[in-house]
Amino acid sequence: MGLFSKRKTIFVDSDILVIGGGMAGCGATYESRYWGRDKKVVVVEKANIERSGAVAQGLYAINCYMGMQWDENQPEDHVRYARNDLMGLVREDLGYDIARHVDSTVHKFEQWGLPIMKDPETGRYLREGKWQIMIHGESYKPIVAEAARKAATEIYNRIMVTHLLMDKTRPNRVAGAVGFNVRTGDFYVFRAKAVIVAAGGASHIYKPRSVGEGMGRTWYAPWSSASAYALPIRVGAKMTQMENRIVLTRFKDGYGPVGAYFLHLKTYTENAYGEEYESKWYEHTKELVGDYVDHLPVPTCLRNHAFLEEVKAGRGPIRMVTKEAFADPHKEQVGWENFLGMTIGQAVVWASQNIDPKHTNPELTTSEPYVMGSHATCSGAWASGPEDYAPSEYQWGYNRMMTIDGLFGAGDTIGGTAHKFSSGSFTEGRIAGKAAVNYVNDLGNDQPAVSEAEYENLKQVVYQPMENYEVGRNEITAGTVSPSYMLPLHGLQRLEKIMDEYVGGIGSNYTTNEPLLTRGIELLDMLKEDIDHLGADSLHQLQRAWELQHRVLASECVTQHTMYRTETRWPGYYYRADHPKLDDTDWHCFTLSQYDRESGKWAMEKAPVYHIVD
Ligand SMILES: Cc1cc2nc3c(=O)[nH]c(=O)nc-3n(C[C@H](O)[C@H](O)[C@H](O)COP(=O)(O)OP(=O)(O)OC[C@H]3O[C@@H](n4cnc5c(N)ncnc54)[C@H](O)[C@@H]3O)c2cc1C
Repeated sequence: MGLFSKRKTIFVDSDILVIGGGMAGCGATYESRYWGRDKKVVVVEKANIERSGAVAQGLYAINCYMGMQWDENQPEDHVRYARNDLMGLVREDLGYDIARHVDSTVHKFEQWGLPIMKDPETGRYLREGKWQIMIHGESYKPIVAEAARKAATEIYNRIMVTHLLMDKTRPNRVAGAVGFNVRTGDFYVFRAKAVIVAAGGASHIYKPRSVGEGMGRTWYAPWSSASAYALPIRVGAKMTQMENRIVLTRFKDGYGPVGAYFLHLKTYTENAYGEEYESKWYEHTKELVGDYVDHLPVPTCLRNHAFLEEVKAGRGPIRMVTKEAFADPHKEQVGWENFLGMTIGQAVVWASQNIDPKHTNPELTTSEPYVMGSHATCSGAWASGPEDYAPSEYQWGYNRMMTIDGLFGAGDTIGGTAHKFSSGSFTEGRIAGKAAVNYVNDLGNDQPAVSEAEYENLKQVVYQPMENYEVGRNEITAGTVSPSYMLPLHGLQRLEKIMDEYVGGIGSNYTTNEPLLTRGIELLDMLKEDIDHLGADSLHQLQRAWELQHRVLASECVTQHTMYRTETRWPGYYYRADHPKLDDTDWHCFTLSQYDRESGKWAMEKAPVYHIVD
C-alpha cells in the first residue's frame, strides 16, 4: 500500500451514473429523471457543471435545429447534409434519431430562459444558416446546468473520473467508475447499474499552433482531455471512425469561429493577392475524391483542402474579407458580439495586433487536429441504434449502449454522428438517459457488483504519480528533470510531438503514411512505458497526469485507425500520402477498433455503412 493510496474512500451508489456534466451529460440527467422518477441519478464532473465543457464560455448560435414547426427542414434533410459533409460515412440511424428530437430540446432551452433571437418579420427563430439559429448564449451553459441540477439526485463536482469498473462476475458489464476529488484528494468509488459517458472530446493530442505560454489557446477546450474515449477504450468498448479527426479553418491566433461571418455576415475568403482560390483547386480535388467535390454544400474537409493547397502554393495567407461587411454598422456590431459572446480571446488578439476588421481583412489559419464526435466529424464509440430505425446489424441492445453491457454514451462520446453540436449532444444525452432507465428497469435482480480487489488496486494506481514524485524528488537538487519520473507537461509535449510528426499534424501538413504511422506506434508504446512513471506534486498535477493517460490511449486509437484505413477519405483533415485517393470500393465503410488491455493489442475490423435515407 503506497503513501497516497491511504486516502479516504467514499462510496456512492446509484442507478444511473453520468460521467461529465457538459451538454450531453445534462441532457442524460434531465431525461433519466423524466423516465426514472424513482431512480438515483448521479452526475460526476471534473469541473463544475455550472460552467463546464465546450459550452462553458457561451455560444452565439445553436447549430442543430430543424425548424419542423415551420417546415423549414425535416430530419431526413439533416441526415443527407451530415452524410454529404462526411464524404458518405455516417450512422444514419443515429443521426436521424437525434434530428427527429432536437427541436423539442431547443424549445425546452427557450422555456428555461435561453434568449433565442427572432426574425422580426416572420417571428421565427433567426437563422444564421440552414441549420443554425442565433442566440444570446453567454449564459447557455448555466441555464442548461440548472435543469440538470434540478433533475439529479446528487452532483459531484471536482471529481476526475479515471477508470470504469466492471462487474465482478460478468466481464463485459459495467458496474461503476472510480476517480478522485481534485480539491480534497478523496478517492471515490461510484457503484452504478448503468453508466453514461459524456466526457467531451479531445484537444491537445496534437501539437497546437500556440505553444509556450499560449498553449492553452486552442480552438477546442483545452480541458477536453479524451476521457470520453479512453474510459470506454480501456474496458474494451469498440470505437469507430477515430481516424476522422477534425481540422478547423479559424481566425488566426484566437481560433475565433468563422460560421457567423460566412453565414450571417456573408463574408468570404481570398488569398494574399486578393484572388478567389477555391475554384482553382477543383480539377485537382476531383482527381482525389471524384464526384464528392460536386456535392453541395462542398464538404468541410474539401474547403480546408483548397485552403491548404493554396497556402502550399505560396499564395497565403488566406484572409477573410470583412471590410465590406463591417462597413454596415449593424453587421459590425454582430461581428464583434459574435466573439464577445463565445470567444472573447479573438477580440483581444485583434486588439493586441492592431486588427480592426473594418479596415483590415484578418488572416485565417487551419487548426491542429482534434478528436470529437459532435462537431463536423464523428469519432467515438460504436453504439447500438434506435429500435424502430436502426438496421439489425446496428442493434445489439439498448439505444446508445456501447458494446459493453450497461455502458451508454452521448455527445462527443458516440461515433458515426457528426453535426449534433450543442443541441444535438443534449438530445443524444436524453436518448441515452431514457435507454439507460429501461436497461436498469430490465435488470431486475441481476445487478452488477464491483470487486473490492479491482477498486483497491485502482486506488493505488490512481495516486501512484504523487508517490513517484514524493520519492523521486529527493534525487534532484534543482530544476524539474528527474531520473525517476516525468512531469505531466513533459509527457503531454512528447505526445503532441509524436502525433504531430507521425500521425498527420500541422508540422507535417496533416500528411502521414504507413512507415510514419508504424514509427508513431512504436514511439507511443515507449511513451506508454514512461507514463507509468509520471510524477505529480499536487492534486492539480495528478489530474494532469490522468488527463495525459487518457489522451495517450485515445491517440493510440487514432493512430491505429489511421493506419487501418488505407485511403484518403477526407483531404483537408488528413492525408495518407501512400494512398492519396478516396477509395469507395474498399473503404465505403466504418472502421472499428477494440483494445485488449491484457495484451495491449488492437483488433481492427470494418462495419458496413447503411444508407437508410434516400
Ligand atoms: C470551440 C467550440 C465552438 C463550438 N461552437 C458551437 C456553436 O456555435 N453552436 C453549437 O451548437 N455547438 C457548438 N459547439 C459544439 C458543442 O459545444 C459540443 O457539441 C457539445 O458541447 C458536446 O457536448 P458533450 O457533452 O459531448 O461535451 P462537453 O459539453 O464538452 O462536456 C463534457 C464534460 O465532461 C467533463 N469531463 C471530461 N472529462 C471528465 C472526467 N474524466 N471526469 C469527469 N468529468 C469529465 C468536462 O468537464 C465537461 O463538463 C462548439 C464546440 C467547440 C469546442
